[in-house]
Amino acid sequence: MTKRFVIIGVLTLSIVLGQALCVFAFEQTGRFATLRYASMEALREFNDELYLGGSLGRMLRKKKLMTVEAEALAKVEILVEKAQLVLDMFPDNMHITVVILADAEDVRRVYKQRYGRSARHIAYYSLKEDTIYISADDTSLEVISHEIGHAVVDHYFKVRPPYNIHELMAQFTSKHIQD
Ligand SMILES: [Zn+2]
Repeated sequence: MTKRFVIIGVLTLSIVLGQALCVFAFEQTGRFATLRYASMEALREFNDELYLGGSLGRMLRKKKLMTVEAEALAKVEILVEKAQLVLDMFPDNMHITVVILADAEDVRRVYKQRYGRSARHIAYYSLKEDTIYISADDTSLEVISHEIGHAVVDHYFKVRPPYNIHELMAQFTSKHIQD
């Protein structure tokens, strides 16, 4: 193999690996969640779209956060805690990953890669990976609290509930997240 081919080979391999592993440049870890995001822009958008009002907002303001990174992570942590309260389920050592992608197209691409089929999700929770994939563009309190609901349910039950029940509990979580 010539040197040029080796370089092309290495480049191709790193692109393939990069896509397969979803290598993210940035990461923030807290008690309940690790946030992963490909760019600060995606994180900023996620943080802007995820507005916490009422008692959730008061919990956030108490923390006196200085950076977008800290604020975005704190919001997710608050929502995991609140989702546990709403569901009255407190699984031990719950920790999830939240992967923030730029837009719905990226979420669809990752879903297709993982499952080999298309779906029009703006966010989804992967039971196998303990991970929420979410489009920064489409982030809202309703969308992320629904997915966090799935995550709490998944960590709580030793035997996974039927799909419709799982879905019902996720809907219940987002409906009552601001109570
Ligand atoms: Zn759902």
